Formats: sequence, structure tokens, C-alpha cells
Amino acid sequence: MRLTTIGTGTVSPSATRVCAGVLVEFGAVRLLMDCGAGVTHRMAALRMDWMGITHLAVTHFHPDHIADIPMLIMAWRYGTLPPRAAPIEILGPPGTANLVERLADAFGQWMREPGYPLTVREIPFNDRIDLAGEAYLGTYKVPHTEESIAYSIERGATRIVYTGDTGFDGGLAQWSAGCNVMLSECSLPRSMTVAGHMTPEECGALGALAQPGLLALTHFYPPVEDEDIAGIVGSFYKGPIALATDGWSTHIEDSACS
Ligand SMILES: [Zn+2]
Ligand SMILES: [Zn+2]
Repeated sequence: MRLTTIGTGTVSPSATRVCAGVLVEFGAVRLLMDCGAGVTHRMAALRMDWMGITHLAVTHFHPDHIADIPMLIMAWRYGTLPPRAAPIEILGPPGTANLVERLADAFGQWMREPGYPLTVREIPFNDRIDLAGEAYLGTYKVPHTEESIAYSIERGATRIVYTGDTGFDGGLAQWSAGCNVMLSECSLPRSMTVAGHMTPEECGALGALAQPGLLALTHFYPPVEDEDIAGIVGSFYKGPIALATDGWSTHIEDSACS
């Protein structure tokens, strides 16, 4: 499996980081997790195959995670030639179908019928679905918004966890235990602690409990970047740490790969 961070920023405008977007590729699947503002154009800047995306999974409904969904749906129809013919499945927590309906009410009927098959599938909290026969997509309810979830992609013995936006949660650490890569939000410095987001100290504590093969951090508000993030996290968690950037990528040996 290959994981690429497309956008590693937040709703706070940044010259170097667009909003949240992560691509995970394996077999015939190109799974985009979150599609925040700026993600569509960033994929073009990174020369990524944005037309080849097969599934779009959202973690929650804040604009820095969903604002580019209408953009991408329209880009697949009108953004290049030939237009998209392949189906797209939008996945998300309970409420996702209603979200897409409300977006279509605002933007137009083309969002429901973009010219290629578009389906919406809600995944219950703390559940797991089969993804195109290639992997399991698991969800874990995290403390951020009413609907917010973390995702797990399991393929054979290989497992990636993406926390989405979340406050520190011991259950999330337990659920993620031993995964190969944990992509975790790291929003704010300790001096700006708020409920529903994590500090570097909390990311370190999460890593120490979950013991992932690699702890990759994303979703940086500008003030946290003034901190020695890796140093703080490393004082709690002794494994490998990566500070993701837009375009950062890692490959995980995939036991299910043929
Ligand atoms: Zn966010
Ligand atoms: Zn959020």
C-alpha cells in the first residue's frame, strides 16, 4: 500500500499546506480520505492521478475536510477530456448521505447525477466494511464532532490508521495498536490546547500506547509549527516519526499484494 498526504493543513490559510486530503493506493483501489479546500488543485500540482480515484471517504463534515467534494465531482465531469465514466463511491459516517443531498441542494442536480455512477455508502460507527474485495475499511468514533471517525485500512497483515480530527482518546490508541502507519492529526501547541484536537504531547502519548510502525503527523495549524514537534513527540514515543507535508508519501510492504 502507498499512502500520500495531499493536504496537511487546516482551515487556517497556509502558503504551503492546503486542507486535509490523503490518498491510499492498493490493488485496483485509489482511496481518497477527506477532500478539504485546495485538495483538487494540489493533486494536479503533485501530478497525481486524480481521475483514477475509485473511493472517497470523509472523516467528518468540517470544510477543511469536505469543501472540495463539489469541486472534484465537477472536475471529473468537466475538468478534463474525456470525462469520467467510472463509478465513484462516497463513504462516510452516518449523516454522509444527507450531507451529499444538502450539497446537491446548494450546488445543483449535477451533484446527484454527474454523468458517471455516484453512490453514497454510510459506515456505522466502530464497524468494518469490505472495500472492493481488496481490503477492509474500519471506522472508530473519535471525539471531535458528532459524526467524526477515524479510518483503518486493513489489507492482509498490513494496516494503516488515519485519525482524522480528534482529541486524545485512549480507545483510539487501543484500536490502532500495532498498525504499520498511524497518520495522526497534530493541531495545536500545548499553550493553545482545545477539546477535540491534539497537541504534540498528546500525539506522543497516543504513539506510546498504540506503538505504530511509523507515526506520521498532519493537520498542523501554523502555531504548532513553531514548536519542536518531533522532539516533543519523541520524548513520549520512541518509534519512527514523520512530519507530513503536501506530497509526502510512504510505501508499506503489502502481504496481500499479488
Ligand atoms: Zn480539520
Ligand atoms: Zn474538524
